[in-house]
Amino acid sequence: MNILFIALNSPSHFAIWNYLSVEALIGHINGVFGSRKTTCKILYCNSFDSSKPVIKEINSNKYDLIGFSVLPYTLELLQKILQNINKIKAEIIFGNQLATYSPEYIIRYAIKNKNINYQNVFCVLGEGEETVEQLINVMLKKSSVYAEIESIKNICYYDGLQFHLTQLQAPDLSKLHYPPKYDISIRSQNIVEKKSKNKHADWVEHEYFISEDSPKINRAAIQMQLSRGCFWGNCSYCTRSSFRHGEKWKSFGINRIEKDLKNVILKLKYKVIEFSDDEFFGGRDKEHITRINKIIDIIENINNKIEDKISFRIFTRPDIIYKKNESGKNKIIKETLARMQQQGLDRIYIGIESGSCKQLSRYNRGLTEQSILKSIQILKEINLPFDCGFMLFDPLLTLDELIDNINFYLKHDLIRGNQWFWRPVIINKGSTWGDDKFEIYNKGKYNPNTMSYEYEINDKDVKFIADFIDLKTKETREQLYTIKQISKTDLKFNNRIAQVAKKIVEKNGLIYVNLIRDLAIAFKNSNNEIEQLKKELLTNFKLSNKM
Ligand code: SF4
Repeated sequence: MNILFIALNSPSHFAIWNYLSVEALIGHINGVFGSRKTTCKILYCNSFDSSKPVIKEINSNKYDLIGFSVLPYTLELLQKILQNINKIKAEIIFGNQLATYSPEYIIRYAIKNKNINYQNVFCVLGEGEETVEQLINVMLKKSSVYAEIESIKNICYYDGLQFHLTQLQAPDLSKLHYPPKYDISIRSQNIVEKKSKNKHADWVEHEYFISEDSPKINRAAIQMQLSRGCFWGNCSYCTRSSFRHGEKWKSFGINRIEKDLKNVILKLKYKVIEFSDDEFFGGRDKEHITRINKIIDIIENINNKIEDKISFRIFTRPDIIYKKNESGKNKIIKETLARMQQQGLDRIYIGIESGSCKQLSRYNRGLTEQSILKSIQILKEINLPFDCGFMLFDPLLTLDELIDNINFYLKHDLIRGNQWFWRPVIINKGSTWGDDKFEIYNKGKYNPNTMSYEYEINDKDVKFIADFIDLKTKETREQLYTIKQISKTDLKFNNRIAQVAKKIVEKNGLIYVNLIRDLAIAFKNSNNEIEQLKKELLTNFKLSNKM
């Protein structure tokens, strides 16, 4: 059985982050069915230009099953491909975030093409391994997928009149024994640079070229996941729980983890790993610490076999590092982190998201300011550099909360950990705030391409600042994003180009943080003159006609 996977990537974000889902799926299919029963091919597509070979491959009619991985901001690319499909015999499945949160939209769009029959089109909701395995089993029996679709989990399908969902259930990770099959070719290019821009409807197509001088991504860093989901899973804006159909944090089995790490480090020779688990530890209890120690043992064994130790980075929450009244566990976590550092942990990402108590509680982070501050203190004590997430603007942010956030950020000198502090919260479908029944803010139109809702900030002064900063940063955003990617090519910043890139993004970040602070304070202290002040700002910054 021939299977083609097409990984669609946003035309404007070229980070290598997003290939893991297709690679995980292929690893599972290869492991379960073997190469005698199935062969899988991946094509990558992030521009109209790169969609041409994809369309040609689909129309070659060599495939029994074609799967699209559809991430946010890829809908127009998908539409372009779907419009150009000729008569094909394959079953078509769509997976990943957009297929999970906009399945009806995608199926409706696909069957607009008269060459595509609704009985051959399905969306896979959430993690796809078990669903695709079930689907392939049906196909290998030569049965009709459509006739048996009710028996396959996590599917959205159309019966010609209406849409249906089959049983929703996240896969049991302990039964997913086979690690991803990483595609090295996609990671072996130099960083691409933008050559030109063409307007296509409401989006911009980027053309990239490979620069001889740009730093190589090749074998610099690879993303891996040793678990999925988050033990907290309750933040107001987060979709992780709904993507897992209500399941929280789960680990892959330790044997799979060992196989995966050995493959990546010993066979594929990667030296830097970004563990992109939603949350790396899963908790602070004995079972979680035991698991982490087993993972460190595996890494230590591997490190002993190679010349230079690997380096790696993990994601976690502040309340994994510190919790009030749990001094014993705090000590154990600190020691565990130190042990991880000895084996190559050189950076940690902790989601702070807000420095305002009221906003933290609105975000339902389940965190106190104290746990955040203490966790930062511990990371500084053990000399472990950290990145920290912030989501400054939300529909209900007040001027006082904005000032609290800035004071917190500047007081704790967080520029090294976050250079884009003014990011707004995105209200995604699948999150608590994206739920139709959630009404504390004024929800706008749903955009199936971003799987998010528009919203307006209630406080008109905060809204002015958010819009103003958005317009100002737009001018250099893409360049800075590129520079940021360059800074990440060496997480230890030993490489001179990465060091310079990091300095540039930090300097740029501070300019805007200070600007936001000055605006917030000026608005807070002015009474009647505030509207005049806004007018002058827009005139001076030549933005009058844009806001
Ligand atoms: S801590 Fe992160 S992954 Fe967990 S619920 Fe909150 S935003 Fe989602």
